[in-house]
Amino acid sequence: MSSAPTFEAAPGGRAPVARLPRLLDGVPAQGAMSLRTHLNTHGELPLPGRRDRRGPDALIDQIEQAGLSGRGGASFPMARKMRAVSGARGKPIVVVNATEGEPASLKDRTLLETLPHLVLDGAVLAARAIGAEEVILCVCESAGAGLERCAQAQSERSRLGNEWPRVVLTAAPEGYIIGHESALVSHLNGKPAKPTFSPPMLFERGVRRRPTLVNNAETLAHVALIARHGPRWFRELGIAGQPGSTLVTLSGPVAYPGVYEIEYGASLTSLLEAAGGTTAASRAALFGGYAGGWVDGHLLSGVALSDEHLAPHGVSLGAGVVLLLSESACPVAEIVRVARWLARQSAGQCGPCVHGLDSIAGTLEQLADGTRDRHYSQRLAELVALTAKRGACSHPDGAVRFVTSALRVFEHELADHARHGPCDACASSREMPLPARASRARAA
Ligand code: SF4
Repeated sequence: MSSAPTFEAAPGGRAPVARLPRLLDGVPAQGAMSLRTHLNTHGELPLPGRRDRRGPDALIDQIEQAGLSGRGGASFPMARKMRAVSGARGKPIVVVNATEGEPASLKDRTLLETLPHLVLDGAVLAARAIGAEEVILCVCESAGAGLERCAQAQSERSRLGNEWPRVVLTAAPEGYIIGHESALVSHLNGKPAKPTFSPPMLFERGVRRRPTLVNNAETLAHVALIARHGPRWFRELGIAGQPGSTLVTLSGPVAYPGVYEIEYGASLTSLLEAAGGTTAASRAALFGGYAGGWVDGHLLSGVALSDEHLAPHGVSLGAGVVLLLSESACPVAEIVRVARWLARQSAGQCGPCVHGLDSIAGTLEQLADGTRDRHYSQRLAELVALTAKRGACSHPDGAVRFVTSALRVFEHELADHARHGPCDACASSREMPLPARASRARAA
């Protein structure tokens, strides 16, 4: 993993600003920021007490005014989620979802390894705001350094003497589906790490049947800064519909791939400049991760990084992933590898997801080999229609989105493979990252 350089929006996007980095301010090149440096950088944690005269909703109001949305991919308004949990019956629990099963994303791992106190601050503040006595910080069991540094950070914080909430660090099994919050809650309840059917919703009944607030690590890091600087400060960056800054994992043919902090609305060009420029031409870019969509390389020069700007291209920033695919890669081979991997991630409990994703991957494999008849596009369209919106969670919808956009953007390459079989680049094309060990939620 590369270090986490930051940048300011450059000409071509919004006007340059002098207020980045925020989250990544002072990020150490190696190791984690100590508690002392963290407090020197960001100031003391503004902890409301149990008898805070502003009331427990003060922070939720600030978060609402800031317009903070979740950074895990779904962009749900954070304040609305907090109000739902605090209004439910029972003593709430906060779960920090830092499992990051998205193979193309490194942002949460970067936060945990370098800036764990920022995430812990946000979790503690959110817990106090909704009246939770307990925070469960879930880190993927394969994130060795992240787990270790969170444990170190916890031990450093013991001298702060905050009596609540209690923070429990726990290792979650590796996997893509555990990133779905109900799968993570199911795991925490001692059951298989599979998404559950709703109702009940997690805000009503989650961990130990208590109202549960599940948040992505980056979202909580923003809470830590909003509590210190306020909503107006937060809105000084970004655009009206998506205020603030966000972390983006950039990969592909650039000089310095890694995690960058941008303001919403910054141009892709400025991100690439901050990453030292491109090292090869890009055939296309994937936005949002493996549940996201592709944009053709010819359209990339004018792209700005916000959901509003990306919507005309049919994509969003999702989990903050921008992956460039070089001209030398075979897009068909890459799509087939990822589609098969996505099919294997099915939790195995909804027929359309299990059979639909497997059939889509199988059809693409036949197409790539040149053994599928020329009616492949019709067959894929049928499979997509049979699979989308028919699962208990959004996994099949994300996989279908990925495949559907690939069919559009790589139409000619797919037709070539269907006609002539594998190309010269097929065998060696391995640009899109996948976990070395294909984990399967169904085995949990
Ligand atoms: S849609 Fe797929 S991943 Fe989601 S719960 Fe059903 S089988 Fe599991």
